[in-house]
Amino acid sequence: MTTQQAPATTEELQAGRPTGPLVQGYEVIIGFETHAQLSTASKIFSRASTAFGAEPNTQACAVDLALPGTLPVMNKGAVERAIKLGLALGSTIAPRSVFARKNYFYPDLPKGYQISQFEIPVVQGGSVSFFLGDEQKTVRLVRAHLEEDAGKSLHEDFVGQSGIDLNRAGTPLLEIVTEPDMRSTAEAVAYARELHKIVTWIGICDGNMQEGSFRCDANVSVRRPGGKLGTRREIKNLNSFKFMQQAIDYEIRWQIEELEDGRAVQQATVLFDPDTGETRAMRTKEDAADYRYFPDPDLPPLAIGADWIERVRAGMPELPRAMAERYVREHGLSAYDAAQLTHSPALAGYFQAAVAAGANAKLASNWITGEIARRLNQQDIAITAAPVAAAQLAGLVGRIGDGTISNAAARQVFEALWSGEGSEVDALIEAKGLKQMSDSGALEQIIDQVLATNEKNIAEYRAGKDKAFNALVGQVMKASQGKANPAQVNALLKSKLGG
Ligand code: ADP
Ligand code: MG
Repeated sequence: MTTQQAPATTEELQAGRPTGPLVQGYEVIIGFETHAQLSTASKIFSRASTAFGAEPNTQACAVDLALPGTLPVMNKGAVERAIKLGLALGSTIAPRSVFARKNYFYPDLPKGYQISQFEIPVVQGGSVSFFLGDEQKTVRLVRAHLEEDAGKSLHEDFVGQSGIDLNRAGTPLLEIVTEPDMRSTAEAVAYARELHKIVTWIGICDGNMQEGSFRCDANVSVRRPGGKLGTRREIKNLNSFKFMQQAIDYEIRWQIEELEDGRAVQQATVLFDPDTGETRAMRTKEDAADYRYFPDPDLPPLAIGADWIERVRAGMPELPRAMAERYVREHGLSAYDAAQLTHSPALAGYFQAAVAAGANAKLASNWITGEIARRLNQQDIAITAAPVAAAQLAGLVGRIGDGTISNAAARQVFEALWSGEGSEVDALIEAKGLKQMSDSGALEQIIDQVLATNEKNIAEYRAGKDKAFNALVGQVMKASQGKANPAQVNALLKSKLGG
């Protein structure tokens, strides 16, 4: 069952109507700010390389170092990537957006300000939809704006001092901001996973969380249902889905405990420490006014014409949602299964290859979202590294479909394919003697034998116990060494028992 849940409206939030599960009687409210590093070769306002992992300060040019007399020049590739995201999420692309200076002092920010879009961002509105279990959720976006990253302070290798590495200074970022629409940790993590899937799918971000290419700030507050919106704390720089889940769970518990103990939650920016599993306040929160934002006089407004948007649209790949809807339409898959199959371009490609090789789409989907997903997960490998090729899966699925082997036998063949014991489906079926019994005479003989020695089960079945019938089927399957066709066994047993 799929239910389309409309996001909470601002009025609902104000009215205080709870729209999610309660934790110890509290409603949880979460909004996300995500920094996606755009996959351009050069920086947002300079020609220095954005490649990760270079020697410190080897990829910072005069512009990134803020040397006097240098001027920023907009990187078209970064704008194009922002347009792509806006198109993918149904947002409005602003025909004219403005870069501002966000002023603050930090050693890794030599200009003394960060160039960011403030009042007029390039991407406005839109939404992200995803499954949470079998329920469809929608999280509304406020905006996505272009900005530059700062440098990095290095503390390791420096005793009593800090080093500054400006390689990251000027790296293009798209900050994607949601409405406070999420109502649980699970929903927040599912949102982040979906957004991660989209930015990598459309190729605007490499999605490498360890290297910091996709990092999330989770704004979390709790309140009594019916009460006014709680004060939020912002957990900074969550760079793994596991930490994200741990951090938000901890933060929710911590805030509830504060309120239960009669203290008020103070608005703050906090950091998650994976070693202790706790969040800790790093600073009280600045207000926008503290940053003295003003339009950057060095950069003209960013103008995006309709023709540019159309060119970008023409180059967009089919999006996961459209692809999933197509699978439902063309192959009769459930919306849930279709969403699973479109988890990544590679997984969708695998499914499509299996179907192209003749596999029944539903059977192929069941195997991919079941057995194959389980094994990939267990071995922590990607579908591209799966030892069973799509064509082999198609062969296997074909032999189930034409009645040659049972599902149980298919699992044995699959195991042999996966472990590399063999590569030919038919040869494996032959070698393992897994062909289903198609001779109904031989099957009847087995059934008669089973019935002759199971009077108790027969009596129980006649007395109306379904379990007893299943036991008889099990006996027959066992006696046939798993080669009988279960549907045929059912039918024959029923007719012999007069049921
Ligand atoms: P800032 O940029 O100063 O962090 P914003 O008003 O832009 O502030 O909000 C940032 C994020 O916090 C947004 O994702 C928003 O949805 C979320 N948010 C705002 N209020 C709350 C709240 N009471 N609880 C949880 N999240 C909130
Ligand atoms: Mg913020």
